Amino acid sequence: MSYRKSQAIFNIALLALILLLTGCASGAASAPLPSTLPPTVPVASSTAAITDLPPATATPTKPKPSPPLAAATPEPTATVPTSSTLTPIPTPATAGCPCPISHVVIISIDGLRPDALEEADTPTLDALRAQGAYQPAAQTVLPSVTLVSHASMVSGMSPEKHGIFWNSNDPELGKVQGPTLFSVVHEAGLSTAMVVGKPKLEHLVLPGSVDSYIYAGFTDRQVVNEALAVIQSDMPALLFIHLPDVDSAGHALGWMSLGQLLAVSLTDRLIGEVVSALETEGYLDQTLLIITADHGGSGIKHGSDSPEDMTVPWLAVGPGAPAGKVLQSKIITYDTAATALAAFGLPIPTNWDGQPVLEIFEEEPQ
Ligand SMILES: [Zn+2]
Repeated sequence: MSYRKSQAIFNIALLALILLLTGCASGAASAPLPSTLPPTVPVASSTAAITDLPPATATPTKPKPSPPLAAATPEPTATVPTSSTLTPIPTPATAGCPCPISHVVIISIDGLRPDALEEADTPTLDALRAQGAYQPAAQTVLPSVTLVSHASMVSGMSPEKHGIFWNSNDPELGKVQGPTLFSVVHEAGLSTAMVVGKPKLEHLVLPGSVDSYIYAGFTDRQVVNEALAVIQSDMPALLFIHLPDVDSAGHALGWMSLGQLLAVSLTDRLIGEVVSALETEGYLDQTLLIITADHGGSGIKHGSDSPEDMTVPWLAVGPGAPAGKVLQSKIITYDTAATALAAFGLPIPTNWDGQPVLEIFEEEPQ
């Protein structure tokens, strides 16, 4: 096969992948896209990329000059511009900001390894990292699979306590043991919503704990469309958003493959839409945004105790969070729930394992 032909096939395959991952192929309604959208993904135009495609590890790297705050944001402001300042991803976390936190938004990027953020083109997450506090080596729980890990993320407990050891959607197996983050927040009189890309996450919903539970479909595009609708129509105090594409790409093409890094880039743009919506609707400066993952992976699998599977990124951006800080705290995924409760000023249930990451509430002196 000639080089030109194989490159053409490769390009078509990439386009198909992009369409698949964005949901365009299935005709999913598309939300307003940032005018800057066309992802400048790190597509290597070399034959090396072709031979690397399956579970490649030598994928194009991007220079990561931990971007200066203002410069790094070809950010959307995609939705209808308002009269508010259109600064891309404004900085809610100015030092000494007395802003109270009235909203917590947790975004879980299924299967995202932290080192993928160093290789993929991720302007949104780069800018958020520059504005927030980041731990690149947070740890998930064992087995490092989606349902078990998310159960810990939202229950504040280890699997031994929350009781979910399976990774499938089987209503007969019951629900997570509570109390969960959602049940505690709801009992405190605050509103809650979940928008997810895998139906099995319904195992995490205790009766009466989630005002709006939406399984949006199996793509990030579908999930974000629903999340944008929630933000624009009925923004809850606690919003959990689960994005499945990076995991899907990992299982299909390999963790850290070119295909998965493309998926990371696309997911990054969709997160930009969420942040833009929070800004446009006027919530962003009172919102603690936590972005993390349930597990990593290697080859086309995950679930083991290897560092590739267990290590996840953990980023917090919001009022009081020190900008550009690398967190020293050891973070385990169940600390996410405890941190969200701390942001609302709610007490942590005594049977939880999770501890709030208090470093993110420190306001650094000027
Ligand atoms: Zn997962």
